[in-house]
Amino acid sequence: MAVVCPECDTPIPVDPDEVEEGETVQCDECGMELEVVSVDPLELAPVDIVGYDDEDDTLAVEEDEE
Ligand SMILES: [Zn+2]
Repeated sequence: MAVVCPECDTPIPVDPDEVEEGETVQCDECGMELEVVSVDPLELAPVDIVGYDDEDDTLAVEEDEE
């Protein structure tokens, strides 16, 4: 069984017997992570990982209001 990556349309092989809800699988093609939200029927949703793309510019947005 396979699901199709929403990012690059590449089929990602997923065995419903080997995954559990809450697990994540990764697309080999684009590296996108998908969380298993349901195993019956098999359903995956993109995982938003905030900040992981940044390298050294993590302080770019910082406001200090009083
Ligand atoms: Zn992909």
